[in-house]
Amino acid sequence: MYSEINQYCQSRGVDLLVVSKMRSIEEVYSIYHQGQRQFAENRVQDLLSKKDQLPDDIQWHLIGTLQRNKVKWVAPFISLIHSIDDFKLWEEIHRQALMNKRIIPGLLQIKVAAEESKFGFSFDRLLQILEQDPWNLLSGVQIRGVMGLSSLTDDQNQIRNEFKTLKMYFERLKTQYFNYPEFSTLSMGMSGDYQIAIEEGSTLVRIGSKIFS
Ligand SMILES: *Cc1c(COP(=O)(O)O)cnc(C)c1O
Repeated sequence: MYSEINQYCQSRGVDLLVVSKMRSIEEVYSIYHQGQRQFAENRVQDLLSKKDQLPDDIQWHLIGTLQRNKVKWVAPFISLIHSIDDFKLWEEIHRQALMNKRIIPGLLQIKVAAEESKFGFSFDRLLQILEQDPWNLLSGVQIRGVMGLSSLTDDQNQIRNEFKTLKMYFERLKTQYFNYPEFSTLSMGMSGDYQIAIEEGSTLVRIGSKIFS
């Protein structure tokens, strides 16, 4: 399925991030050899182990919950952290970026799904932080946009509405707080809902199972 999905994304100007979690090195190689260079893992340990065994020109993204004490392991090389969902984590990424003399790109993960279990800032909480906390001083992190997950449901309308909400948050944050060209990534859409996500303005889809099936 890789080449179909890749073509679909390319023709719509959307970045394809291949989620390699739980896949073998051989499986990842088979996609790499078709030209893919952006891969994502959701756990730091797995990311480090894959990075070790695969070519150096892969750009690695982190898409899962990141614990503060693990930031140091990915700080030297990570291309994009999709899961900034806490101010203290944001601060720690900044600190580790300075230690590595680099600027780490990140996305603010915002909760739009109905389920309790989905991680991310509530939008209200995020606005509160943006008003009250000294995030502007965290020069080691460049916020490039937002990431979100839709609910696990068959209700296509609900999924579409959640993506519309995320897109609205993205636009509002860009206008009010992050008014620079690099704030341009709307990371939404997975195997089950990437077409809807793209229709609703996604600029980057994170696809795993459908690519490897
Ligand atoms: C696993 C995962 C994906 C990919 O999910 P698929 O349904 O396999 O495409 C995307 N985003 C996040 C945050 C994930 O954990």
